[in-house]
Amino acid sequence: VIRIDALTKRFDETTALADVNLGVGRGEIVVLLGLSGSGKSTLLRHIDALELPTSGRVDVLGEDVTRLRGRALRRLRSRVGFIFQQFELVGSLTVLENVLTGALATLRGPRLGLFGYSRALRRRALGHLDRVGLLDRAYQRADTLSGGQQQRVAIARALMQNPEVLLADEPVASLDPESSSQVMALIREIAAEDGLTVLCSLHQVDLAIDWADRIVGLRHGEVVLDTTTDDLDKAQVMEIYGRVATTTA
Ligand code: ATP
Ligand code: MG
Repeated sequence: VIRIDALTKRFDETTALADVNLGVGRGEIVVLLGLSGSGKSTLLRHIDALELPTSGRVDVLGEDVTRLRGRALRRLRSRVGFIFQQFELVGSLTVLENVLTGALATLRGPRLGLFGYSRALRRRALGHLDRVGLLDRAYQRADTLSGGQQQRVAIARALMQNPEVLLADEPVASLDPESSSQVMALIREIAAEDGLTVLCSLHQVDLAIDWADRIVGLRHGEVVLDTTTDDLDKAQVMEIYGRVATTTA
């Protein structure tokens, strides 16, 4: 589903990614671990063609995304959902309206209906809110929800695209441990039901070990670890963090 070959990305003097090779198969749940600045966000952004490589190749769902433009790029992006640390909801809109905006990425004017969103879209949006357990909050302003609830709204919004791949950039970094586990469990449950492929960056090693099928470690833009969680050896995790983690261990 995702095939990255010899991906290098430089920003001026900074090498954010150095010769990264990574393949992710359909339905896999993969966590990216690494210190701040190790290149996690940059890697995720390449998969959605939000960044273009300095060199190397990025294939997603059978397309070389670095070559896509216009309508072809929009079509690819509609198959890839993206959720972020800061949720990126519109606080002054209702929960339901926020979920509905997820359809804008894929639909053109006429399908939206004459007076805003069509009834079919509203039904789908309510269905997704039900899946994330927030149906009773549909008509509440988004900024009145807790962080964990807002991230669940962002997940429902991403589902409006019917994505095949879900990218998540530190989706629980601003949540407390309890909401973090809930949000991660929800992502896993939905991924299993819908056959989604998930690539998610995280800071919490323990959560990653509990949650992922496979862990990819980045250090200074290089892949230094790539293993299934079953085969994971804690010493390898230290490799990702280098001296920082060994001094705190
Ligand atoms: P964090 O855990 O803090 O989110 P990260 O692993 O996501 O970190 P990236 O944001 O991918 O790290 O950044 C990797 C490196 O690339 C950093 O050195 C960063 O400063 C640099 N970088 C990222 N985006 C840009 C940009 N648009 N312009 C210049 N440098 C950038
Ligand atoms: Mg980041």
